[in-house]
Amino acid sequence: MIRSRSCRRYLLHLAVLTLVSLPLLAQKEPAIKNVFWQPNDLQNGSVAFFGVELNRDAARVTGKFLGKELVFFRSEKPLVWYSLAGVDIDTAPAGYDLTVVAVDRAGRAARTTKKVDVTAATFGTGNVEVPENFVNPDEASKKKIAADGVLKQRAFKHFLREPQWSGDFIKPVEAESTPSFGMTRLLNEELTSRHRGTDFPIKEGAPVSASNSGTVVLARELFYEGNCVILDHGQHFFTEYMHLSKIDVKVGQKVKKGQRLGLTGSTGRVTGPHLHMGVRWETSSLDPTKLLALTLPETHATPKAAPRRRTRRGTR
Ligand SMILES: [Zn+2]
Repeated sequence: MIRSRSCRRYLLHLAVLTLVSLPLLAQKEPAIKNVFWQPNDLQNGSVAFFGVELNRDAARVTGKFLGKELVFFRSEKPLVWYSLAGVDIDTAPAGYDLTVVAVDRAGRAARTTKKVDVTAATFGTGNVEVPENFVNPDEASKKKIAADGVLKQRAFKHFLREPQWSGDFIKPVEAESTPSFGMTRLLNEELTSRHRGTDFPIKEGAPVSASNSGTVVLARELFYEGNCVILDHGQHFFTEYMHLSKIDVKVGQKVKKGQRLGLTGSTGRVTGPHLHMGVRWETSSLDPTKLLALTLPETHATPKAAPRRRTRRGTR
C-alpha cells in the first residue's frame, strides 16, 4: 500500500516534470542554426556576404566582425538573414571571430561565434607620374584636402538601417577594369600610395551608372578624387565614383541601379581619363571587382519587419 502510494506519487512527479520540461526542451534547440558566407575564402580586401539561418523567428539579428557592427536584414525566407560587409585591405591574415546575435520579440538573445579565416591577397606595384601639386600640395591645397576629409567622414557616417541595394552590383561603365585594387604606387618617384579602388580606363564623357540602388551622400568636386559621387546602399555599405567630368545627381537623391550619376573624366589626381570605383563597408576599403563578382539575392528593399518603427526611420 505504502509502496504503491509512493509509486503513484513518483509517477505524478514524473508527469508534472515532463509537462514542465517539454517547453524547456524545445527551447534548448539553438536559436541560431547556421552561419555561412560567400565567397568561402576571404582575403584582405574581400567583400563578404554573410548569412544566418535561424531555428526560430527573430526581431533583429546583429553581429560583430573585425571590431565593426554587422546589421542583418531578413531575406525572402523569414528564418534567413543577410549582411553585406567585408575585410579591410589592411587586415592581417589570421582567423577572426564573427559573432552573431539573434534577439527574439521577447528580448531574449541567442549568440554564436564562428572563426573566419582571412588569407593574404597579392597586390601589384607600379610607378605613376602626376602633376607636382598632387604629390607636394601647396598650403591652399592642404586646406582643401583637410576640408574634403571632413566632408567624406560626414558622408560615411550616413546610416540607413535597411538595404537599398537589390540583386547583383553592376559595372558602372562599359569598360574593362585594370588589376589596380591594392596596388602600391610610387608617385613621381617620391611618394608611396596605396590604391584603394579599381580603375576602368575609358574616354572622357561616357556615362557612369549607379552600381546598385542607393542614396547619394556626396556629390561634389574634391582635391584628389575630382568630381566625386558616393552612394549609400544601406547598412554601412557604400560605392564611390571618381574623376567625373560632370555630376548629374544631388546629395539626398535616391538613385536606381543603372541610373546615370554623371560622365567619365579626368578631374583630380589622374594620369588620364578613367573611372575610379571604390567600395566601402564602414571604414573598410574593399575590392570592387570582388563586389561585382558576387551573386546576391533580391532584397525587395522594403522593410517587412518592425512595422511600428517604419515612421521613425524616415528613409523611404
Ligand atoms: Zn584610381
